[in-house]
Amino acid sequence: MGKSLRSQISLYIMTIVLAVVAFVSFLANAAVNRQFEEYMINQERGQREKIVNDLENLYNGMTRSWDLEYIHAIGMYSLYDGYVLTIYDSAGKVIWDAASHDMALCKQIMSDITERMSQRNKNGFTTYSYNLMQGDRKVGTASIQAYGPYFLKENEFQFINDLSEVLLLIGLLSCAVSIFAGTILAHRIARPITKTAEIAQQISNGDYNIRLENETNTRELNMLLSSMNHMANSLSRQEQYRKQLTADVAHELRTPLAALRSHLEAMSEGLWEPTAERLNGCVEEVKRLSSLVVDLDGLAKLEQENFRLKKIEANLLEIVENVCGNFEKEADNKNISILVDGVSSNILVDRDRIVQVITNLLSNAIKYTPEGGKINVWIKDDIDRGVVMIEDNGIGISQKDLPYIFERFYRTDQSRNRKTGGAGIGLTIARSIVEAHKGKITVESNEGGSKFTVVLPKREEE
Ligand code: ADP
Repeated sequence: MGKSLRSQISLYIMTIVLAVVAFVSFLANAAVNRQFEEYMINQERGQREKIVNDLENLYNGMTRSWDLEYIHAIGMYSLYDGYVLTIYDSAGKVIWDAASHDMALCKQIMSDITERMSQRNKNGFTTYSYNLMQGDRKVGTASIQAYGPYFLKENEFQFINDLSEVLLLIGLLSCAVSIFAGTILAHRIARPITKTAEIAQQISNGDYNIRLENETNTRELNMLLSSMNHMANSLSRQEQYRKQLTADVAHELRTPLAALRSHLEAMSEGLWEPTAERLNGCVEEVKRLSSLVVDLDGLAKLEQENFRLKKIEANLLEIVENVCGNFEKEADNKNISILVDGVSSNILVDRDRIVQVITNLLSNAIKYTPEGGKINVWIKDDIDRGVVMIEDNGIGISQKDLPYIFERFYRTDQSRNRKTGGAGIGLTIARSIVEAHKGKITVESNEGGSKFTVVLPKREEE
């Protein structure tokens, strides 16, 4: 089955957003840490230099002595700030030493700082030595032990920890927002697709009347929706066509088969003499059935998707004359005259198919024209098209029937009653062939007869 589109899109969006958040956080954190450390190292150096400066101010150049009371104060302040001082005079003798002054306090402060800083770096305490100067003269030395290269005081440490927590919270919050936004976005993208998939499923189950109505604001999705609707429409039409065809064929087969069956049964049971006339009647019905099958077969071929015309250069006048020649005997039997007139017209067509069109039209003209009638055929040659007109003075077609006579299985009431007609496929086949040639077939008719006009383009349009 696979994962749903929605969960996949959500997963992709979340993965991307989380990766971006993690990457940006990592970079930001690294950059901020570097800046912060640089700043702290400078601060730290400044602090030590300030202590040294303060100490230098405590030397009295006149009396060449140190103000021990203030040195003690600076030493103690510095100690509380995390700096362990040892101060020597110019002869190298210890003047003030934090460790020997309050060893326990020193150890306590140093271990506090070490413990606090061990979470950031494990560098440990370093001893920095400074010369104490009075002008150009060295008056002593100060050794400052401090956690290097920088360390954080209790409140600074607390501030940094709070800041980290806030940043972590922001990170978690942006993850939550991105998951939420990702889910909503995935839902919005996936919903019309999911709906389309459901509809496609329904269509594939045979429900062709279903249509998608929701217009989205995504062009590709709209294209998909309208293609689906188009497909459903065309399937619905095909389905209707198929049902209609089946019903029509069944209808057309039923009558001759029923007649055949009852006649043959009557003869085989001895109720009817099998006279030549009766047997001929049966043969006629079988012929009608065979021609129906041939017509249906022809129509099926024309309606196939991959139907291709085999076009060759042909002369329309010659085709028409040939077909008329084939009908000579039939026309003679009904004492119908066929007159062909017109000019040569060279044209690129599927010769056999066009022969079939003229055959169907001429056969109808003879069929629906009473004895002693007249059929006129003209061939015209225009610049870019050939035209054939077949006119008879037969029974004509009523105005109400005219729009439908090219429909499959359509027959006018007169032709049904007269038992002359075929199954009503001849004109459908003729129209399919002409349209496959990108041509046009039209009819005009009144009580005085009918006129069919076939217009065929001479060359295929570019
Ligand atoms: P059919 O096999 O019944 O002739 P067609 O498709 O060729 O079927 O014709 C359809 C119907 O159109 C015919 O049944 C007939 O009623 C009418 N028709 C066709 N051609 C003519 C014509 N020349 N004169 C009068 N009616 C015609």
